[in-house]
Parts: sequence; structure tokens; C-alpha cells
Amino acid sequence: MVTCNTRYKQMYTKSADFIFPGAHFTDIMRKGAENGQYPQAGEDIEKFVADMTRWHRLCEGSIERLLPDGRWVLIQERRTRSGGIVGIRTDISTMRQTLDELAAANSRAREAVGEVQRQNAVLLQRDLDLRKQNVLFDAALNNMAHGLVMVDAQQRLIVCNRRFLDLFGLLPGDAGVGLSLQTLFARIEEASKVYPADMVARLRRWQLDRANAGSQGHLVTEAHDGRALSVNQQPMDGGGFVAIYEDVTERQQTERRIWNMAHFDALTRLPNRVLFRAKLDEALGSRGEDQGIAVLYLDLDKFKDVNDTLGHPVGDALLEAVAMRLRTCLRETDTVARLSGDEFAILIHAQRVEDRVRSLSDRVIAELSAPYDLNGQPVSIGVSIGAAIAGTEDIDPDILLKNADLALYQAKEENRGTYRLFTPDMATRLHRRVAIESELRDAVGREQFELAYQPLVQLSNNRTIGFEALIRWNHPTRGRLGPMEFIPLAEASGAIHELGRWSLHKACHDIANIPGGCKVAVNLSPVQLKSEDIVGAVKSALASSGLPPERLELEITETALLEENERIVQNLHQLREAGLRIVLDDFGTGYSSLNYLRRFPFQKIKVDKVFIAEATFRHDCSTIVSSIIDMANRLGMSTTAEGIETEEQLDLVRKLGCVEGQGYLLGKPASILGAITHLNTDNVVPMAVVSGKKKRS
Ligand code: C2E
Ligand code: CA
Ligand code: CA
Repeated sequence: MVTCNTRYKQMYTKSADFIFPGAHFTDIMRKGAENGQYPQAGEDIEKFVADMTRWHRLCEGSIERLLPDGRWVLIQERRTRSGGIVGIRTDISTMRQTLDELAAANSRAREAVGEVQRQNAVLLQRDLDLRKQNVLFDAALNNMAHGLVMVDAQQRLIVCNRRFLDLFGLLPGDAGVGLSLQTLFARIEEASKVYPADMVARLRRWQLDRANAGSQGHLVTEAHDGRALSVNQQPMDGGGFVAIYEDVTERQQTERRIWNMAHFDALTRLPNRVLFRAKLDEALGSRGEDQGIAVLYLDLDKFKDVNDTLGHPVGDALLEAVAMRLRTCLRETDTVARLSGDEFAILIHAQRVEDRVRSLSDRVIAELSAPYDLNGQPVSIGVSIGAAIAGTEDIDPDILLKNADLALYQAKEENRGTYRLFTPDMATRLHRRVAIESELRDAVGREQFELAYQPLVQLSNNRTIGFEALIRWNHPTRGRLGPMEFIPLAEASGAIHELGRWSLHKACHDIANIPGGCKVAVNLSPVQLKSEDIVGAVKSALASSGLPPERLELEITETALLEENERIVQNLHQLREAGLRIVLDDFGTGYSSLNYLRRFPFQKIKVDKVFIAEATFRHDCSTIVSSIIDMANRLGMSTTAEGIETEEQLDLVRKLGCVEGQGYLLGKPASILGAITHLNTDNVVPMAVVSGKKKRS
């Protein structure tokens, strides 16, 4: 060291003590390093000293050094011409800091540029996407099947689509962006050729109301000509709304058609069961204080005959004619429906409902029973009516309908062509009937039946020549039941076949055991006569009992012959050929068609007891009785007068030439033993009879 300035020493504070003229460079380095003057020196101080000395000798360029106090110095050394070294130390701390800051700023700037570039790329992509979306949105909007309008919070048009313009007959120029809703509607009213003005006005009012209230809604508005428009309006966040329009004319028409199909009968155009039921519910729910409601069930009598014999087209025409006539009987508030086949129903409201039911029923029966002319084909039918009334009390509609049905059932049972009003005992009677019908099934097997025998008396000599077998049911809980109570049920359920076979066998066996050759008359139901094995059943009864055929009479009623049934004709002929006699029972009460007397081989006619009952005091009855007897005599048929209860009646029928008589006066129905006793006291010849064994004397 030759010399240094104060500034030099101030920089190297930790080695200032070793810097003095004459000090050796290596000592300054070493001592400085030992005192912490050179943070870069590290552990190996000698190596640092050696490195620095080498650099010092070479004296090349400059280096930058960090001082312990954090400042930087630039070290520059230069060789003098004389071989010494001049060293300059410059404090570059501030400059370095500035440079660092510049570098940081530079890199931040570079990053910022990168970010901007990235964002630019994203924006570019977004712009592209938006354009693409706009195109798609446009396409979607204008290809929508529905009209669309979007309006802002100030009720100005944001957008509408092509379908909207078309719906109302607008041109694109009529509905520019920013147009006020009021003006838009004014233009629609001007332009619309499709929808009438009152309908557009309705639409405008409704949409503006909704828009002002900021509420959503759905409206279907219909014009007089049936054109229908549906609008769905939905408010948007921040005001304004979107509305979707659809022309629903066709849909409305289709829906109406489907509704009609589901609620009206296709043939008669009358409401069907579904609609009738709905009307009934409505009527029951909304009837006035003093109003009663009634349901009338109608069932056509003999409709099936018309359908079967004249064909379905005539049957259909008849139903249409019936519907037409029914309509003329009704008031505006009444409802008439076709429930099914030949079943109709009427619903009425009235103040004095029972009177109305009566008058309406009379009118309907009269109207429907009048003859019809169906394309030149004359047709006659009848109608039975059952009615049930709901007064002011609450009643379940199902029960009301059931009651009307029960009353109808009763009307048909008792007398076709009438009407019956429901009474609670009808239900009881039906229950009894259903119970008896099911009990009947086992009754034959359980031997609960019995035959009563009523004498048939020859009027010329007062002798009992035979008996009519009349069936009785000794019911275990209901007591003794007469045939009128269970024969119709047995006929309906089919139990009549077994019951009939039992009657035949029992009657033949009982009578075969009675000496004297008396005959027995057995009643045959029409159902039996129609069956295939009736001839076999009769022959088997005769064979097993040993009763000769000529001692068996079969009594049949006219109802068996009503149906033009080949099987019945055949059966009757075969029975006749088998040698027994066939009797036409209850003559005069049914159709009394003389044609039957020609077509079937009857041997005897029984004059019904209703004529005998009145014959002594009613001239017309005695005339009928005398005519029947006269006619039978001329046709070679025998006659029986039944139901003879008085001596006068007996005298009269005898005088009129009747061959046989039957009735309480001549003998009541009695057990087989009673019948035998009757024979013994009545007949001149006394006989010994042993019951249960075949023994003829
Ligand atoms: P029906 O063949 O006309 O029998 C005569 C009915 O008149 C019997 O009634 C008899 O008891 C009743 N009767 C007899 N004399 C008099 C009289 O002087 N005055 C009155 N008011 N009635 C009299 P029942 O026994 O109640 O039989 C009713 C009907 O039941 C019979 O009428 C017959 O059609 C049917 N029936 C009876 N038994 C049988 C049977 O075994 N099979 C079938 N299929 N039907 C039978
Ligand atoms: Ca009879
Ligand atoms: Ca009779």
C-alpha cells in the first residue's frame, strides 16, 4: 500500500486498522477476511487470500463485491506504467438497487404483456363463440313452432321471431327492436287477418295486465269461428317478459272430439254413462233447498226380439228413434243418457219431484210404446222404468243409481211396461231372492221338495179322474214355499232341469201306485221344454215307475210357444208320439194365439182361473169361457175349468159344456195320502191302497 484516501478507509471499516502505507496487499486481505470484511471469503481464508492475490496480480477488468453492511462496491484496478496498481472503489449500491428494480419492473412488464396476450386470445375465442351462438340462436328462434316475443322492463320489444310475425300477419318491419308494446299491439290489430279483433283485444288486455303486474300466466283464447290461440307469459329477472304463442285450433278441436267420444254415445248422440254419472254428481252437489232429484232407469221391453229377428240395422234405427222420442219428453234441465244396449237413464230436478217422476214415466211409456215405422218396417216395443228419488237428504250417488236399478228390476218382474218407484223393501226382496236362488241348488239333493195333488174332476159324473201335481218346497228355515216363489228362480238359474226331472219321477211313481187307473198332470216349464233331454226324462220317469203313458198329462203354458223354437216343436211331437197327452195351461191370459192350436198337437185346454173367478158376474168373462170351450170342442180338444171355488161357478162351466173341473170347491191340493183318501170317498168303487208299493187292482 502506497497510499489511500479517507473514503477508501470508510468503505472498508472492518479492515481500516490494517490499511496504512507500507502494509502488504496479502495482509490487508487476510486480516480483513478474519475481521469479517469480506462476506464472500468463506471458511478457507488462505484460499480467498490466494484467489484475490492472483486476481490482483493479473489486474483484469473489474469485479463487484458485497460489503458486510450490505453495500456493493465496484472494484477496478489498473496497472501503472511503473508497475504499481491504482485501485478505485466505487459504491454502486444505489445503482445496483436501481438496476434490480429495473429488472423486476421489466419482468413484471413482460408478464403483464403475456397476460394481455392470453386474455386477447380468450376474448377472440369468446367473440367467435358468440358469433356462432348468435347464428344458432337466430336459427332456433326463427325455426320455432311457437311465436316468441321478448320485451324489456320499459315494455319495449327486444326480439320477436318469424313465427310470431306469421301468426299475426305482421311484416319484419312492423316489429323492430325498441318498438313499444302498445304500438306492437296496435299493429297486430291492424294487420291480423287470422284472429278477429275482439280476440286480439282480449289478448292485449290480458298481456298488458300480466306485464304490469310482473306475473306469469297461461291463456287460451278462442274466437267464435273456433280459432284458438294459447299464450304463455313469463316475467324475466330485472323486468320485462317473454311470451310464447301457439295456434291451438286443431288441438282444441281434437281434444273436443276425444272428449265427445268419451262422453257421448256414438249411435244416439246422447250422453253416455260417464257423463250421466258426472251430471248426477253435479246435480247432487248443487241442488236447491226445495229441489228433489230423481234418476229414472229405462229398459226397453222386447228390444232383443227386434234385434234378433229384424237385424242390427233395424235395432240401431229403433234405438235412434227411441232417443229422439225421449228427447221430446224432457225439459231443458233434464238429462237423458244411453247407458248400454237398450238401457237409458233420465236425470231430473224438480220441486215436487215425485209428481214429476210419475207424469214423466207415464209420458215416456206412452211415447216409446207407440208403434214405430223404421224404413217401412213396423215395430212395437215397450219400456219398463225404475225410479229413485233423492229428496233434501244427502245420498250417495251410487246408492241412488242402485236403487233406481232395483226399482227397474221390480218393474220388469211384476209387469213389463210399467214404472216402479224405489222402496226400501225392494232391496230386502232382492236379497231374499238371491239367497233362495243359491239355496235352491242343494234343495233337490236334500229332499226338501214335495208334491201336492189337486183332484181333476169329470164334470159329467163328478168323478175324480186324476190329479195335478203341484210342487212345494219345505224350506228348513223359511217354511213351506209355493212354486210361484221359486220356480221362476229355478228357471233363471237352470236348477229347473233337475227339479223338473224330480217332479216327473215323483209324480209318476206316486200315481202308478194308486189303483183305479187315475191320471196325473205334471207342469213343464218352458225352459224344460226347450232342453234336449226332456223327451228322455219323461220316458225314463214312465219306464221306471211303470205308469202307462196315456195316464200322464203334461201341462205347458203359452210362453213356451212364444219363441218360434224348432226344438220345442220337435219335443212336443215326440212326446205326443210317445202316447201322452199335452195340455195348454192358463189359456186366455197370454197371447192366446189360435195359431198355436193349429201348430201343436194339444189334447186339452185349461181355461185360466181369472175367467172362472169372474164368469158368474161378468158377462164378458162368461162369453170368453164359453167361446174357448166351444172352440176346443169343435177342434176335438178336451177342456178343464180351473179355479172353481163356488157352486155357481161349477154349475156355469158344466152348463157351458166344459169336460173337467179343478178348484178348491172340488178338492184342494193335498199330499198323496190325502189324494188317495179323496179318491176313496169320492169314487163309487172302494179300493184298497198300499202306499209306496206298486199295486194295481
Ligand atoms: P197352475 O199350473 O195354474 O196351477 C194351478 C194353481 O192354482 C196352483 O197354484 C193351485 O194351488 C191353484 N189353485 C187350484 N185351485 C184353485 C182355486 O180354486 N182358487 C185359486 N185361487 N187357486 C187355485 P200353485 O200350487 O201355487 O202353483 C202355481 C203355479 O206353479 C202353477 O200354476 C204352475 O204353473 C207352477 N207349478 C206348480 N208345480 C210345478 C212344477 O212341478 N213344475 C213347474 N214347472 N211348475 C209348477
Ligand atoms: Ca198347471
Ligand atoms: Ca193353470
